[in-house]
Amino acid sequence: MPKHAQKPVCILATGGTISMQKTAHGYAPMPGFLKNAMATIPELQNPDMPTYVIDEFEKPIDSANMTPEHWYRIGDYIKKNDGEYSGFVVLHGTDTMAYSASALSFMLENLKKPVILTGSQLPLFETRNDARENLINALWIAGNYVIPEVCVYFNTKLFRGNRVKKIDASSFSAFASPNFPTLGKIGTTIRIRQELLLKPSQNDLHLQKFQPIHAGILRIFPGMSLDMIQQMLQPPLQALVLQSYGVGTAPEDPHFLNLIEKAVSQGIVIVNCSQCSYAKVRMSDYAAGSALLDTGVISGADMTVEAALTKLFYLFSKKLPLDEIKHRMKLPLCGELTE
Ligand code: ASP
Repeated sequence: MPKHAQKPVCILATGGTISMQKTAHGYAPMPGFLKNAMATIPELQNPDMPTYVIDEFEKPIDSANMTPEHWYRIGDYIKKNDGEYSGFVVLHGTDTMAYSASALSFMLENLKKPVILTGSQLPLFETRNDARENLINALWIAGNYVIPEVCVYFNTKLFRGNRVKKIDASSFSAFASPNFPTLGKIGTTIRIRQELLLKPSQNDLHLQKFQPIHAGILRIFPGMSLDMIQQMLQPPLQALVLQSYGVGTAPEDPHFLNLIEKAVSQGIVIVNCSQCSYAKVRMSDYAAGSALLDTGVISGADMTVEAALTKLFYLFSKKLPLDEIKHRMKLPLCGELTE
């Protein structure tokens, strides 16, 4: 569905490999580099391309340094400038892109236009790079299609942002969306799967600021120390993503289950997500999952850990009662889980 009345696309550069240069300490972001480099790419000057403006974080960062304050800065920028642009391309490091895309998908309530995160595995300055292709296609999609969601574009594929995982640290196919189909494929033609897209909301864009919360991720493994778990499940912990096995099983050891049950009874929200990338938690399939379910742990269904964690940030930030947080954790709010 190509767009009609055109407003420019805003490219917000936050850092990441795409904008990095070589330094004595390895690749590092260089303020101002991206804008200059983009001015030398002929395709970006072609009249067929959507018009765009570029803005950059004052101090672009390696995405390893991303924090919830950065997520908020990106969200706030989009909220404040929403009326000016037909869409946004957020240039971002790949390492924590899945967290930021998930966070933004919750934070930007009632989004009506594309917010597409992209980046690259090799910087734009390298002769051989994936930056150019990712940048051109993300810009093309943001300028030409009405996609009311936060997406990730990478290596010919458009993904729902809160479904992606970084799965490869060196291939150009850095991302996968294990539990949800890709929203679009870019080849000689562009195919956007309209039937999969979220329905645009009638309400105004609203930005939900994230409050700091005490959250954790616990990946269980055979032989884990119960003392360590006990240490972790102490105040001030408010929320935990428990990475279980398979479809949501965990040891039936009563000491372990007691620790979990006690934590739940003390008001810690525990969400069960699988260690398998391709999985949907169904705790009652096995006795070793039913026992966990009985402790009051909530199913994270087929959410990625990144989505589950940022959703906890989001719901706690709304200052909802615990029962309501638990209820909404099980519902798809913006396509992050399959019921
Ligand atoms: N370390 C980089 C980052 O996440 C990796 C990348 O962008 O691909 O900022």
